[in-house]
Amino acid sequence: MSYVDDVLARVIAKNPSEPEFHQAVTEVFESLRPVIEEKEDFYKKEAILERITEPERMIKFRVPWVDDNGNVQVNMGIRVQFNSAIGPYKGGLRFHPSVNQGIIKFLGFEQIFKNSLTGLPIGGGKGGSDFDPKGKSDREVMAFCQSFMTELCKHIGADTDVPAGDIGVGGREIGYMFGQYKRIRGLYEGVLTGKGLTYGGSLARTEATGYGLVYITEELLKCHGTDLKDKTVCVSGAGNVAIYAIEKVHQLGGKVVTCSDSTGWVYDPEGIDLDALKEIKEVKRARLTEYKNYRPNSEYHEGRGVWQVKCDVALPCATQNELLIDDANQLVANGCIAVCEGANMPTTLDATKYLQENGILFVPGKASNAGGVAVSALEMSQNSERLSWSFEEVDNKLQNIMVNIYHNIDTAAKRYGKEDDFVSGANIAGFEKVVEAMLAQGVC
Ligand code: NDP
Repeated sequence: MSYVDDVLARVIAKNPSEPEFHQAVTEVFESLRPVIEEKEDFYKKEAILERITEPERMIKFRVPWVDDNGNVQVNMGIRVQFNSAIGPYKGGLRFHPSVNQGIIKFLGFEQIFKNSLTGLPIGGGKGGSDFDPKGKSDREVMAFCQSFMTELCKHIGADTDVPAGDIGVGGREIGYMFGQYKRIRGLYEGVLTGKGLTYGGSLARTEATGYGLVYITEELLKCHGTDLKDKTVCVSGAGNVAIYAIEKVHQLGGKVVTCSDSTGWVYDPEGIDLDALKEIKEVKRARLTEYKNYRPNSEYHEGRGVWQVKCDVALPCATQNELLIDDANQLVANGCIAVCEGANMPTTLDATKYLQENGILFVPGKASNAGGVAVSALEMSQNSERLSWSFEEVDNKLQNIMVNIYHNIDTAAKRYGKEDDFVSGANIAGFEKVVEAMLAQGVC
């Protein structure tokens, strides 16, 4: 059995009931096969694949809090500090009822390679809780966040581990957690990113993941002789990533005709009305059913269905495993030319393979959604020098980073004879830098 297959089998056996983690490791290992096979004995002796799949540290804790009825509620909190070879752990916190150890491990593992691709000095980490902020009062969310940070603050710091937001964790939650960290540790430092502008946040952080996704999509299309102008685009999700991806596509002359949330999806043939969407999701925190009140000519459908709509470009921006093999079939049949992931691992392995085999340009999330963590790292830089940069300055840096990521993954893919295989390119380019740093630092 080859070294890659042997370690993959052991990772699966050692981490039962973690299918998302198995999926992420399988995808990365398949891409790395040619790299490892070039120097198999060396990598095996160094146990590189075993080291890179075992988190440096994992902290799991109880989060008790009191609801508005005076009852004590208990949630699970977790932080996975996966790899610090190239910098302090960096990665978001996710609050969603589906959160479990396997999901946080898959996200933390992906984060190692994503952070490496940004070219910035940040290691990989991820965390979260099975707490569901939906339907909770502000006071309940604050009580939860304070309790969560009361434990987490023992393990993080501006130079050790710097969490950010993710699903269910936006500006409100980051604010409550920052306040609690400051109170307990007595430190006013950049321990979290995604902060409000009045207390150390960076301009353009809110927009960064969605904008970055569209910058890399535009570069991909330009390098293949076209661009987003006049293209029809399908987006899934209606959260932070989706909203700012839609905004940037519209600015570049494309038209986004769909969005979705966890209960249903919208088709608006005239183009999604962003002001309406922002009001529904960012202000009212309501369901997409409300969209029709603003746009009578749009359609609302229960359940899934975004990928049935004919489009040139698809941007999945909701959650993992939301673009399945049937969706991939439909996208190909409809003449879609590119799929760029805004969410983390939204496309299943078989759907990814089908898209690639049918000539669709496919950019994986670890490259295409890296704009969020990149601007988070820029927020850390601003906090360290106690300065704030203008929106244009941050946005220009973001654009450069995304364009560089595209060319790095393109070059890495070509080096191994895999032109236009951006999954391989991203995994190889991300891996090479981290491994060089790990080897330089000895057995640790
Ligand atoms: P938000 O919580 O702001 O939005 C998530 C969106 O996806 C919401 O519309 C939500 O619907 C929908 N959604 C969530 N879970 C499900 C589900 N199980 N089924 C269907 N729809 C679902 O999160 P973000 O926009 O921040 O994150 C979206 C994705 O992007 C995630 O995969 C995240 O890891 C990734 N990402 C985010 C970054 C960031 O900077 N925010 C950076 C890099 C990646 P509803 O409104 O009903 O909850």
